[in-house]
Amino acid sequence: MPELPEVETIRRQLEPDLVGRRFDRVEVLDHYFSKPSSASGFEQAATGREVTDVGRRGKYLLIEFADGEAMVIHLRMTGNLVLVDPEGHTGPGDARIYRQDDGTRHLKARFHLDDGGELRFTDPRRFGRGFIAGPEELDTYFAARLGPEPLSEGFTAEALATASEGRTAPLKSFLLDQKAVAGIGNIYADEALHRASLHPLSPAGSMKPDHQSALRDGIVAALERGLDLGGASIDDYRDARGESGQMQDEFLVHRREGRPCPRCGEAITRIVVGGRSTYFCGSCQSRLRRRPRRKKA
Ligand SMILES: [Zn+2]
Repeated sequence: MPELPEVETIRRQLEPDLVGRRFDRVEVLDHYFSKPSSASGFEQAATGREVTDVGRRGKYLLIEFADGEAMVIHLRMTGNLVLVDPEGHTGPGDARIYRQDDGTRHLKARFHLDDGGELRFTDPRRFGRGFIAGPEELDTYFAARLGPEPLSEGFTAEALATASEGRTAPLKSFLLDQKAVAGIGNIYADEALHRASLHPLSPAGSMKPDHQSALRDGIVAALERGLDLGGASIDDYRDARGESGQMQDEFLVHRREGRPCPRCGEAITRIVVGGRSTYFCGSCQSRLRRRPRRKKA
C-alpha cells in the first residue's frame, strides 16, 4: 500500500502538470471508484473544473479547485495515478517507463485535460476511492481520521507524547493508527522503529521523553529517505510516470528477515503484530516495559 512518501512522490509529479489544467471530460469506468456517489454524479461534479493546486493529507491526495472544493483520492492497496502527456507518453523517456503499466490495465477512471493530456486512475484490487468535497466538509473528514502530519513543523516529540499518553498498544500498532500520526504504513513503521532503536512490541505509552524524541527523528528520517528514493515499489506502487521507486533496495529491516542488522549485525527477526508482518532487530531495538501506575495516596 502506498504510504506518505509514495503519495507525496505522486503529488510532486502531478503538481506541475495539473495546476492550471481543466478537466474537459471525466469518465468513471468502475462505479466502485466513486462510491457512494454514482459514476455519473461524480463525472458531472468533476467536469469543467480547473485545478489550482495539488495537495496531500496523510495518504490522501487532494486535487484542489478554484472554489475551495477538492477531489480527494485515496489509492488504498493498489491504486495508481498515471499522467499521459498530449502525445500519449507516460514517462519522461521510454527507457524509464515501467513496461507493464502504461495506465490502461485496470483502468477505473480517466480525466481528459484541456491540453490533450490525460490523468488515469488504475486499480487492480478496486479499493481506491475518489470523492469531491468542500473545505468545511474536508476539515471535518480529516479531523475525524488523521493525526499530525509527520513532515510538518508541528510534529514534535511533545506531539508524540500527547498522542501516545496512556496507550498500551504496541508501538508498531500505534504508528499504523492514522489518528496517532498521519501517513505511516507497514514499511515506514518498521523503518522508523529501527532508526529509533525501539522494539515494535513496546507499549506506546511506555516511552520516556528521550524515546519520544528518538521516535520522532526516526519517523522523519525514514519518511525523508523514502521521499528521496521516489518511494518503495514492493507491490503495485508506481509513480505518476509509471516508474518504480527505489526505497525497497534501501530497507534497513523491512522484509529483511534473517539478514544482518545494519547497525549491530545481528539477524533481523520477523513477527506478526496486529496481523501485520513486522521486522526488527531484537538485539539493538530495546523493548520498553509498561510504566507502573503510581497509586494516589
Ligand atoms: Zn541491531
